[in-house]
Amino acid sequence: MRRAFTGHGASRGSALGHARVRLPFLFEVSEQHIAEADVATELARLHAAIQDVRAELHAARERLHGALAHEVGEFLDLHALLLDDPELLQGLDALIRDSRYSADYALRLQRDRLAAVFAAMDDDYFRSRSEDVDQVIGRLHAALHRGEPHAGGVAGEILVTDTVAPAELVQLQSQGVLAIVTTGGSMLSHAAILARSLHIPLVVGAGEVLQHVNDGDVLVVDGARGRVVVSPDASDLRGYRTRRRDEQHERRQLHRLRREPTRTLDGVDIRLYANAESRDDVAEAHALGAAGLGLYRTEYLFLQGSAAPDEDTQFRAYRDAVLGMTGRTVTIRTLDLGADKADRAGLTLPREPNPALGCRGVRLSLARGDIFAIQMRALLRASGYGPLRILVPMVATRDEMLQVAALLRSTREALRAEGHHVADEVPLGAMIEVPAAALALPALADTVDFVSIGTNDLVQYMLAADRNNDALEDLHSPLHPAVLRVLRDVIRTGRARGLPVAVCGEMAGDPAFVPLLLALGLEEFSLHPATLLEVRQAIRACDLGALRRRAGALMRARDRAGIDRWMRQASTAA
Ligand code: PEP
Ligand code: MG
Repeated sequence: MRRAFTGHGASRGSALGHARVRLPFLFEVSEQHIAEADVATELARLHAAIQDVRAELHAARERLHGALAHEVGEFLDLHALLLDDPELLQGLDALIRDSRYSADYALRLQRDRLAAVFAAMDDDYFRSRSEDVDQVIGRLHAALHRGEPHAGGVAGEILVTDTVAPAELVQLQSQGVLAIVTTGGSMLSHAAILARSLHIPLVVGAGEVLQHVNDGDVLVVDGARGRVVVSPDASDLRGYRTRRRDEQHERRQLHRLRREPTRTLDGVDIRLYANAESRDDVAEAHALGAAGLGLYRTEYLFLQGSAAPDEDTQFRAYRDAVLGMTGRTVTIRTLDLGADKADRAGLTLPREPNPALGCRGVRLSLARGDIFAIQMRALLRASGYGPLRILVPMVATRDEMLQVAALLRSTREALRAEGHHVADEVPLGAMIEVPAAALALPALADTVDFVSIGTNDLVQYMLAADRNNDALEDLHSPLHPAVLRVLRDVIRTGRARGLPVAVCGEMAGDPAFVPLLLALGLEEFSLHPATLLEVRQAIRACDLGALRRRAGALMRARDRAGIDRWMRQASTAA
């Protein structure tokens, strides 16, 4: 019987296919005992599953590159740590050996015990980690049943489940999942952001769907509107075919834009730079006609091995980014790590109560001169191969920029004395992401050659809303009058002093924000290549003069609703 469900469209795209239902692990397991004689086999089954999951996490980590490594890597690392927790492992063994529970039920009991421990913690961060426990236990449960009918991949199917973890999405994509429907989740969760960059259609919050869909049911999913139809009728199928045609047409149109200029309707050229971390990102940015790289994050390089990369390793990576962009400007950001991640790069730092407000970014680089000196040498050596700019993260004071500039000068002299070729011009820029730097830009301006606004952190610090806390995702939004004011002022100040100003946070990669950013005066965007063509298309549909004339109305908006209204009017007027 036909049934329709409505959730939220979290990632665009349509799909037609069979459902693969994955019930929450807890629904599936009830108390089961095993015979004394089966204990050894059950233990061996569990240990094999643990090995499988370990290998699976390791393989997933190896496959990650670029922005995905940044987004997903930390989840995978956390899951690998949880999996190796001796308390978890010994507890499972004891439940099977001493209490003669089945491996499935032992998993369930351990899950409940750990979830209770996390739930009782004072720290919100740890409390929210019980979700990760569920995901690790869920993986173990799946590994126990691999090989049984209905286990295995989701190739060519639509996954229907309660929630999907960011770390799983890459795997599901490589298995060939058509679309995903979840009963939980939100549009701004990490998983939703990732699904959009992987182009997997995703509907979240589809209420009752799990109670009414069975394995093998035929579904139509509309990821833009958040609609799911079970057992579609002729009119649903017609609608699906029309949407698919439109989507394919849109993709072809976008593809054509690879070689078109990023020019507004009234003839103003806007520069679109790409954010990149890996060779693949660089190649994609080049192929899509990016003006250059606006943000090359170097953390990925540091987080790959167990020790900080040496000068030659860094030099080769930076040089290859410069060569890959064949003469277009490449902006490389110095290390942006804090105490929360530094240990994974082989740096031992004192534990901090609040790493987001701790010794991170340029503070860490200046505190660890040994590491910074190597990075500066590698960067300046790469500058001999093409136009390279250096971008400094988390700048709060003028003095920080003066110290970095002094290091740049002394390193250049030392390298030249050693016979290296170093460019005469290596522009030095500051990320504007600490509110103090944004407000005091006039005082910083003579210490920088360009600035790039990191809206991800700027919004987090302006609104005191942790960017990694899903519960605050509505608050962590640039659509606040204070944020718009700061953006406008930074762009104005930069322009008045002849400094190029870009936005390189996620905001710059969302086509919906294009009219707003243009109205605020922005002429340089830096964004992940995944949405570069969509943003180019949105810019080409804008009349810059008309938008700037409406900037006053935008600045008068008093709340999110007012800003949303302005955005709706701007997009219909375009
Ligand atoms: C930002 O903060 O907006 C930014 C681009 O840097 P990251 O996301 O790497 O902190
Ligand atoms: Mg930042």
